[in-house]
Amino acid sequence: MNDETTRTTTSTSPAISGADEAVNRVLDASRDKIIAVLPEVVDKAAREAFADYTPEAAARIAETMIGILIGTICRDYPGVCTDTEPGHFDHFNHEHSVTNKDGEHILDVGFVQLSDGGPAAIYIGGMHHEDLRPEEVRAKTAELRRLLDQADEMADKVIAMTAVHAGGVQA
Ligand SMILES: [Zn+2]
Repeated sequence: MNDETTRTTTSTSPAISGADEAVNRVLDASRDKIIAVLPEVVDKAAREAFADYTPEAAARIAETMIGILIGTICRDYPGVCTDTEPGHFDHFNHEHSVTNKDGEHILDVGFVQLSDGGPAAIYIGGMHHEDLRPEEVRAKTAELRRLLDQADEMADKVIAMTAVHAGGVQA
């Protein structure tokens, strides 16, 4: 679904605080070593912590953590935000849409959380229309239903992440 490249980057994110700087220094020095051991460590931890442990789930968690470490996955909204720029402040996902035959957007759903501190938003929008032959309608409405399911999934994830952020320790 996402066309995320697994690009690695050595550029450091803009410093937010001294603590972040210290973390970044440690990470820069030992990132490769941490990444090398992470799958095994996460697998061991998940095996002990999760009643419904599976090797696949542990591998997915490790993959996400590695993505965050190398900066290809957003650390604030992993799995929702598609900005792969390390240290970014504006979060978004504009990758879900249903288009007509000309490639114009009939319906879009997406996610935005801007660095001005405004609330996270899931948007549903549309711009263009399409005339369909009756036999084409069900395929297109199925596509639209899937798109709206994606909006629900994003909203659920963002609600869960917002609860985590709100309950987390504020520096
Ligand atoms: Zn982000």
